[in-house]
Amino acid sequence: MYKLTFFLLLLGSFSFAQVNTTKSTIKPNLIVIMTDDMGWADVGFNGCKDIPTPNIDRIANEGVRFEEGYVSFPVCGPSRAGFLTGRYQDRFGFTTNPSIDPNNPISGLPLEEETMAQVLKKVNYNSAIIGKWHMGTHPNFHPLERGFDYFYGFLSGGHNYYPEQLTINDLSEVKRKWQWYRTKIIENRTKVKTDDYLTDELSAAAVNYINKQAEDDQHFMLYLAYNAPHTPLQATKKYLSRFPKITDKKRKTYAAMVSAVDDGVGHVLEALKEKGLDENTIVVFLSDNGGAHNNASDNGPLRGLKGDLFEGGIRVPFAMRWKGTIPEGNSYKKPISSLDIMATIVAQSNVKIDPKRPLDGVNLIPFLTGAEIGPPHDYLFWRKWEQNAMAIRHGNYKLIANKQKQKASPNLYNLLKDKNERIEIGFEKKKISKQLHEKWEQWNSEMKDRVFPTLGQDVWWREKK
Ligand code: CA
Repeated sequence: MYKLTFFLLLLGSFSFAQVNTTKSTIKPNLIVIMTDDMGWADVGFNGCKDIPTPNIDRIANEGVRFEEGYVSFPVCGPSRAGFLTGRYQDRFGFTTNPSIDPNNPISGLPLEEETMAQVLKKVNYNSAIIGKWHMGTHPNFHPLERGFDYFYGFLSGGHNYYPEQLTINDLSEVKRKWQWYRTKIIENRTKVKTDDYLTDELSAAAVNYINKQAEDDQHFMLYLAYNAPHTPLQATKKYLSRFPKITDKKRKTYAAMVSAVDDGVGHVLEALKEKGLDENTIVVFLSDNGGAHNNASDNGPLRGLKGDLFEGGIRVPFAMRWKGTIPEGNSYKKPISSLDIMATIVAQSNVKIDPKRPLDGVNLIPFLTGAEIGPPHDYLFWRKWEQNAMAIRHGNYKLIANKQKQKASPNLYNLLKDKNERIEIGFEKKKISKQLHEKWEQWNSEMKDRVFPTLGQDVWWREKK
């Protein structure tokens, strides 16, 4: 065993040396660690006091913390569709969470769109999704059909964490709403028996995957999609015991769930270090949307929650590390987007994007190294098609109609002076409101209506009987 370890260490050192000498020609790996419904203020790097997150903080401390890191939608499915394509998800009608009917061939990420895994496959990346998929449950939409080479997790939008509760073989056995939270975990296309707390299972699968790619000397993209700390609030004694001082039961369980993720992030970072991959791997951490009303999360000073276009719904804990390339320990203050992750890896891996499906994000690296000093985005846009809600960010201004009633006007805020979006800017700024509204309307005209039935309309398990 020692001999084998020594040999692997030698091999690791050799790869590391190669990375350093030929860095400009080597395609960097990408690991995106996404949490689910985590509050903006629930990481140490955003000032969290009651939940230590030393490993997640390492990503920010050894890289960059984004002060204003946004996602493209305030709930799970559309936010992930935007991240995975690098395009505003409303361009392809992914306006809300889709139905999870496993027999519906249109309810998921439209097949005309290319996922990050499909794009990176063109330059020989190996890609894995570990955790929550949520991009469709019909066989058409299976991760292995959408460019990924490895899948370990579950297809729907949420899941129970205790292994003894995973008693449903697959979605065909579902007889009532939310029962899909109890389906067995799938490895590629096969259900597997799991023994551990789900967050620990996902972390272990991620480490195994990284080790395998390193041993194969294979560049890779890993999308580690934890469902924690999304409800149900479930944690094990190991993690709960870390929070004797938190008396609120919900917050204590939430803290334990975040702590489990933090351990997992630590194992992932250790695996990279052991394999000598630190300097050739971009690591991104973010939440898919802001903290929710039901999981005891904390969005700090930000107004609103998951589901809102106020900052609390769309501004998330967001950090990126690329050792040796991005300066360490900075806080980047200009607005950036989860859509930028795709544009960033596309630029680093020199893959060509189909001009029929242009990206909406930008390559962040020149902005983070200081080569570019302007804002990455002139404008950022959001809409919730079902609620007739809109938002646009331009400089310090944000024009927003959160849940627009008929004929209601959007409100203008200056986020530099008013982080909480409490002070409506009045008449004197009407010109800016009008200009931003026109800009948003122009963008909106390029978007599509919803193309699939929604999760809220789901009754497929009844229809099946
Ligand atoms: Ca979510």
